[in-house]
Amino acid sequence: MNSKNNIIKSNYHTHTYLCNHADGNVEDYVKKAIELGFSTLGMSDHAPFIFLKDRSVRMGIEDYPIYLKDLDDAIRKYSNQIKIYKGLEIEYFRSQKNHYKHLLETLDYLILGQHYVEINNRLMSVYDVRTLDQMKAYVKNVIEAIETGYFKFICHPDIFLLNLKEINPNDKEEIMYLSKLLIEAAEKNGVALEINANGIRRGKLIIKGEVRYQYPRKEFWELVSKSKVKVIISSDAHHPDLLFDEAMIEAYNFARHLGIEVEEELVID
Ligand SMILES: [Zn+2]
Ligand SMILES: [Zn+2]
Repeated sequence: MNSKNNIIKSNYHTHTYLCNHADGNVEDYVKKAIELGFSTLGMSDHAPFIFLKDRSVRMGIEDYPIYLKDLDDAIRKYSNQIKIYKGLEIEYFRSQKNHYKHLLETLDYLILGQHYVEINNRLMSVYDVRTLDQMKAYVKNVIEAIETGYFKFICHPDIFLLNLKEINPNDKEEIMYLSKLLIEAAEKNGVALEINANGIRRGKLIIKGEVRYQYPRKEFWELVSKSKVKVIISSDAHHPDLLFDEAMIEAYNFARHLGIEVEEELVID
């Protein structure tokens, strides 16, 4: 693939080696983004979070100064070639509000990657969500996060539908209603929704002859196409080479087929 591209000028969802499941440091990504002709690169590694014990998928609090220094060094070195934003991807829990405020003192933005849902005071992985009640808990959690104003966009908002191979006709109305509530909250609060290329990288499923992704989920994004909510496409890159790959092109095609207009850049102050 030609490394210069004409369609993608930015990416705000980017992970480094510090999260323990990605490759490349900030500078590796910056160099790649410049090579691709990007005008903007937002780094958003998995945030340090003492509240969550999943150290294998996020940076430790002791690594955070390294992350910030890598970002500041890259900004100093490359600011005449590319705009670099300092961010983190993180889950939202009401009890942890001070943590977000604290992080935003040193960062340009946060993005919401709600990988856990709080149900009856216990945390459940979003990858295990299956029942309507669990989906409701996810949507409620995400809407609450949207309303705080801490987050620039919602990563893979449709991830709660991941385990539904087919949407049961009896549940369809309720699920579409939940999706609509989430979309409306994002629209009302000026928070963008993300079409996540990493979902596309997870591969395709064939359900009753129909080929589809685990996410992005068409039923969800059809509703988005009827709203005025801002939409962004992210690589969710876990390797510099994934900043612009086939999955990104597929993500753009997915949006185009549904008539969804995608933001080229986000306003980050
Ligand atoms: Zn990750
Ligand atoms: Zn991510």
